[in-house]
Amino acid sequence: MWHHLLEDSALKNGSRVLPLCCALSSMLLLCLQAPPAGAQSEFTLSQRIRKIIDRPEFAHANFAIEFYSLAGAPEAAQQVAGQTLGEIAAAAYDANLVSGAIAGDYDLIIRNGHIIDGTGNPWYAADVAVSGDRLAAIGDLREAHAKREIDAKGRIVAPGFIDMLGQSEVSLLLDNRSLSKLSQGITTEITGEGGSIAPQNEKTIAPQKPFLDHYKLTIDWTTLDGYFRRLEKQGTPLNIGTYVGSAQVREAVIGDDDRAPTPAELGQMKVLVEQAMKDGALGLSSALIYPPNIYAKTDELIALAQVASKYGGLYATHMRSEGASEMPALAEAMRIGREANLPVEIFHLKVSGKPRWGSMKNVVAAIQLARDSGLDIAADMYPYTAGATALASALPPWVADGGVQKLLERLKDPAIRARIKKDLAGDHPDWENLFYDCGGASGVLISSVQNPELKQFEGKTVEDVAKSWEKSPEDTLMDFVLADNAQTGAIYFMASEEDLRIGLSQPWTSIGLDAGEMSLDGPIYEPHTHPRAMGSMPRFLGRYVRDEHLLSLEAAIRKITSLPAQREHLESRGLLKPGYFADITIFDPATIIDHATFTKPDQLSDGIDFTIVNGQVEYDHGKLTGATAGRILRGRGWHPDAP
Ligand SMILES: [Zn+2]
Repeated sequence: MWHHLLEDSALKNGSRVLPLCCALSSMLLLCLQAPPAGAQSEFTLSQRIRKIIDRPEFAHANFAIEFYSLAGAPEAAQQVAGQTLGEIAAAAYDANLVSGAIAGDYDLIIRNGHIIDGTGNPWYAADVAVSGDRLAAIGDLREAHAKREIDAKGRIVAPGFIDMLGQSEVSLLLDNRSLSKLSQGITTEITGEGGSIAPQNEKTIAPQKPFLDHYKLTIDWTTLDGYFRRLEKQGTPLNIGTYVGSAQVREAVIGDDDRAPTPAELGQMKVLVEQAMKDGALGLSSALIYPPNIYAKTDELIALAQVASKYGGLYATHMRSEGASEMPALAEAMRIGREANLPVEIFHLKVSGKPRWGSMKNVVAAIQLARDSGLDIAADMYPYTAGATALASALPPWVADGGVQKLLERLKDPAIRARIKKDLAGDHPDWENLFYDCGGASGVLISSVQNPELKQFEGKTVEDVAKSWEKSPEDTLMDFVLADNAQTGAIYFMASEEDLRIGLSQPWTSIGLDAGEMSLDGPIYEPHTHPRAMGSMPRFLGRYVRDEHLLSLEAAIRKITSLPAQREHLESRGLLKPGYFADITIFDPATIIDHATFTKPDQLSDGIDFTIVNGQVEYDHGKLTGATAGRILRGRGWHPDAP
């Protein structure tokens, strides 16, 4: 019977120590005072207890319990068991079996840190023990030992940070070191914005050909499950979860054309969403300023979101407008949430365009009102006033109708160029004029190019290029896109500091980098990327939280740990809690800060000491350990055995 009790308790289950499902086992643990309850690895403890129980002096108790149980007198059995517990505890204590025996039972102990557990509660002092991939114990572990011990005196020990818009699904296949993310304390990312890594077919692969050729990458999967298997084989240091993109399924079925799907095509798109949800997608995403997603009407998005809803997913969106038509765009996102009955996540919330600066308070009020009325809507942000996307995204969307080749052809036509110039000169209710929103060519920075002849312009504004080429800003923009086959990346200075601060202050905003992982060399290294790639989390915690007191450190940690984990239903992540996965970030609250700037973005941040993913130290004071302990995080619709 005793053995049976121990087998059934959580002691049996890997390194999970709590909760103990049996009251007797809990009492027994409490009796074994050193080390504190819950601190032992179960295997050793059960062995130890068995040793004591099997001693001759307890034979009478074992017999009595057995006897009363068989006689149908459970209360009597319980009483004997209770008496025996006390004796066993005393024997264990006297024999000093426990304190000596648990040495080395843990894989890792982090001592003397201040725990900020992700709930938003104030920090407390404690040690943290890790066994395997899980948190085994949190408390006073001075008597315990481990294979590795870290002294975190003066440091914060927090759950690993979660990046709500990670963009690393492709880069992880090209160079998975992820220095940019691990050096910010990021252990998990959510990705798949409008376009997604799956489904793939000839229609989705063809437009990526220049990119795939450049990196010699072969897309050898069609489904999300196929991608996950490939990523698992290659290894990832980050935990990865992804949405299925509404642009992706649209392109897979009807290509890049500006038209509505036929009922049959919509049916095919829904099947693709369903397949992805069963493979573990976290929901449906959209990016409605980009072709071909921009061609999707609200009804189409509702129909696809209903499928995601059926499998417990959410709807995440780069809204149709963050500028002139932001309020109608927000209303559209809310309508999709209501009519498809699923939570809504706004990607990279901002107010874009100088004429509208100062109106973030209206945007957050509208979101708060929707929340108060019962819609589960929230947002993520990157802590910068500039955004980044393709330089070609500065062009009116009709220029891209039919795909990249058509776009490039159009840019050679003088009549079309004249029409583009006219369009670039003002606000449009039906598309985002990024060029205009940034105040023109001086607000648009060339961040990355593919054509070697254009490399000299990386880090320069379009205005700088225009001066050098002695052309108008608009002609420079179009000729640059042409000369680089629409592969140029750009940074757009479109938002205000005050609006950013108002957004970051909301309890329902989290942080998303909107930038993929990279390192400081290798195939995907971009010296002129957006600084958010290297600096977002330290900038948030150092500049906005410590230096500007925008919110408490505990509230800030909650926004980048348990809030995103809860929204995405990431099981046993986002908190420091025994039994949870050991995703841990250890940082110095006094020194944490970003160094990446718009003109010199490839600068690592300071202040992160350790980044630990699923119990493995992956980042240690500026150095990568090379561990790839990340996992695929599949959504609630995952049917592992689905055909
Ligand atoms: Zn976006």
